[in-house]
Amino acid sequence: MAKRDYYEVLGVDRKASTAEIKKAYRKLAIKYHPDKNPDNKEAEEKFKEAAEAYAVLSDDQKRQQYDQFGFDGPSGFGGGGFGGGGFNMDDIFSMFGDIFGGHSGFGGSGFGGGGRGRQQFRGADLRLKVRLNLKEISTGVTKKFKVRKDVPCSHCHGTGAEAGSSPETCQTCHGSGVVIRSRQSMFGMMQTQSPCPTCEGEGKVIKNKCKYCNGNGVVSGEEVIEVNIPAGVQDGMVVTISGKGNAGKHNGVNGDIQVFISEEQNDVFVRDGNDLIYNLLLDFPTAALGGEVIIPTVEGGKAKINIQPGTQPGTMMRLRGKGLPAVSGYGYGTGDILVNISIFVPKEMSKEERKAIEALRESENFKGDNSTKKSIFDRFKNYFS
Ligand SMILES: [Zn+2]
Ligand SMILES: [Zn+2]
Repeated sequence: MAKRDYYEVLGVDRKASTAEIKKAYRKLAIKYHPDKNPDNKEAEEKFKEAAEAYAVLSDDQKRQQYDQFGFDGPSGFGGGGFGGGGFNMDDIFSMFGDIFGGHSGFGGSGFGGGGRGRQQFRGADLRLKVRLNLKEISTGVTKKFKVRKDVPCSHCHGTGAEAGSSPETCQTCHGSGVVIRSRQSMFGMMQTQSPCPTCEGEGKVIKNKCKYCNGNGVVSGEEVIEVNIPAGVQDGMVVTISGKGNAGKHNGVNGDIQVFISEEQNDVFVRDGNDLIYNLLLDFPTAALGGEVIIPTVEGGKAKINIQPGTQPGTMMRLRGKGLPAVSGYGYGTGDILVNISIFVPKEMSKEERKAIEALRESENFKGDNSTKKSIFDRFKNYFS
């Protein structure tokens, strides 16, 4: 039998989105599900055909190859599991379990995971991104968001059933949410349990659908969410707010909100873990004679540091505990401010300044070139010997 075009099998356009492909497959998988069509060879073939089409079209890379080369892709789908009709039912369940459940489907183990009795729908998680500046990170901050999400339908109170009616016990599984299939295997008859395809594992079906939510029990809505972000977070960290994501269908389980932390660049400090590096461009007289310098702190305050006479460029000073606070579970302690000292050299000078400096150049003590290099070299030598 000639193979049918995968797009034709799923009944979708060649430009169909991944979501459309998934939806189309899901519909066919439920329609031709072996539990719904016992001992129906044709349904089984269609079920396998749909799974094969979905396996290719749901994978961007395989889909691209298929679009370009058809069934005999450069690496040859024919050689692998696809062309040979080598799909077995359990593979299909284990490969595509997520389409029937998982993150945006059921709260339980999903389809094909063995079926564990009645299941509840789980709403999909929401993702938010929050940009924080260093000051907000140093103190922690509360942010408010208005999010669009699925909320329970107020007309049917989330049940999905029209007023005056209620969900009925599913006739396929008699309310258990699972169906048991028997099949012959080399070990004898084996029974496998999977979520009921009629009620999708819920144990109930809605005959008289609420017209406001089309029987889903959820409608699109809005909510203002407050997020407490702890001090010390870092770019890329995720703060999870449990149960504030999309409402689950039919008064199921709510999804979560995941808040992704994005950190704004700071033009005063460079962050290194919870330490903050401050580059101090110190004037030469203070480096030579010593003195006090005021530097900024992260909260917008100031800190005084004492410069020792004869301070060298490249010196690193540490202000303990002045960095970022520790956020629990990330392995960093409270940070420090590290002051990295370099020496300021003016680009232009007045006549008088030039004269003063030219006089210094004559002084033996100011002939830095060799002596400094030598002393650094000596320090190196001593360090390694
Ligand atoms: Zn409703
Ligand atoms: Zn059922």
